[in-house]
Amino acid sequence: MVDKAGDATNKSMDNMEDGIKGKKKDESSKNKNDITCHAELEAIRLAVKKLKTNDLSDCILYSTHEPCIMCSYAIRFHKIKKVVYQHAVNYLGGVSSSMPLLISKEAPPHWGEVPVIVHLNSHL
Ligand SMILES: [Zn+2]
Repeated sequence: MVDKAGDATNKSMDNMEDGIKGKKKDESSKNKNDITCHAELEAIRLAVKKLKTNDLSDCILYSTHEPCIMCSYAIRFHKIKKVVYQHAVNYLGGVSSSMPLLISKEAPPHWGEVPVIVHLNSHL
């Protein structure tokens, strides 16, 4: 995850599953036996801690896979302005599933605007 300043949250990118640097990280949920430890949530937790705010509206989240609906909830709650991912997922994706929470306009008003979605493989 990166913010407008560029480097304030660069360390959090290392904790993402892939991040923009392309470093594969083990699935934390498997290692910790905790299904809430998706890479997106781990990056959000780190960004909130590092930036000392719940408002991540200056941040962009990069992910190898389409965020699931659990992660989409957190992305919307923290008002992340842009989400970039490479691969859609078959079930429970926040954009392509029958529960598109990441792009739904039926959301609590305090969540703000729908984030900009960049699907890098959308041309395939
Ligand atoms: Zn997830």
